[in-house]
Amino acid sequence: MKNIIIVCILFFALTESPAQQKTKHPKNIILMIGDGMGTAQIYAGLTAKKGTLNLEQCTAIGFHKSQSSDSYVTDSAAGATAFACGEKTYNGAIGVDVNKKALPTILEAAEKKGLSTGLVATCSITHATPACFISHQPSRSLDEAIAHDFMATDIDVFIGGGRKFFEKRADGKNLVDSLKAKNYQIASSIQEVKNINKGKLAAFLADEQQPKFSDGRGDQLVPSTETALAILSQNKKGFFAMIEGSQIDWGGHANDTQYIINEMVDFDNAIGKVLDFAKKDGNTLVIITADHETGGFSLINGNMKTGEVTGKFTTGDHTGVMIPVFAYGPGAEKFIGIYENTAIYHKMMEAIGFK
Ligand code: MG
Ligand code: ZN
Repeated sequence: MKNIIIVCILFFALTESPAQQKTKHPKNIILMIGDGMGTAQIYAGLTAKKGTLNLEQCTAIGFHKSQSSDSYVTDSAAGATAFACGEKTYNGAIGVDVNKKALPTILEAAEKKGLSTGLVATCSITHATPACFISHQPSRSLDEAIAHDFMATDIDVFIGGGRKFFEKRADGKNLVDSLKAKNYQIASSIQEVKNINKGKLAAFLADEQQPKFSDGRGDQLVPSTETALAILSQNKKGFFAMIEGSQIDWGGHANDTQYIINEMVDFDNAIGKVLDFAKKDGNTLVIITADHETGGFSLINGNMKTGEVTGKFTTGDHTGVMIPVFAYGPGAEKFIGIYENTAIYHKMMEAIGFK
């Protein structure tokens, strides 16, 4: 009997080391949000790219239920607060609950644990989606208050538009100067962003909103993503980043199929860079999803050889349809299934070992 027990203990000791018993936590999390990106938007981009997207490299796929606390159809503020804070709130809320009380965000949790943090967007950095990760305000329209909330954090990199909300403020404060005093490098063009690969970075690529991809913004999201990853990955403890393809939503509001396609392809190019990084790193969890669908967009014709797409819209607003979630890397399997949008926060927090 004694011998059998010893043999058993030896067997377990040999087959399962303590390291293997522990679940593997990713060191880094990159959340990518295609604002307004439903399955038709994705498929329009896929068709325009003649049949394949970088997104397809994701290994785990699920769906989330996007409804907000006060509406069947969410806006980007309640949607991003669900991802950032794990609670359903009212449309327009920036990182606050239904009683307008501040909710801690995953970006703030990462900062507290000593990780680096970053936000990248193709709209004003104070716009609803990025704002919900770093700010706590009762309304998404309070751009100057949202900009001020950036100063309360130690975010390492942010890249987007919205310079005027930092610089030309009703309270007379110049927060760009305050950022400089906090040792941020200030970039005002994509060329400057490309030339920076260490230290802290605040990049303002527009005074307010960035233009469309096709109206002069061009390929800024890919190099912005590369710079953010270069800076953030220098922290041995890891990082949390949110990267947004902000204007897929605006193409939907405009009922403009080509606008959607251009922004979707741009976002997928950034997805390619992120997945390349995650593959090489081996310790990065990537989640790609949307806050909601925009436009009630559908595809009534297309051609995989020519890349042509014929789209049709049912609304100029958001819709309440189920939203796909794609994941890659350690912890990706947690994102299989159908769950509330708030579960994305909880799954990320569990995956990285914060709870
Ligand atoms: Mg957005
Ligand atoms: Zn919208």
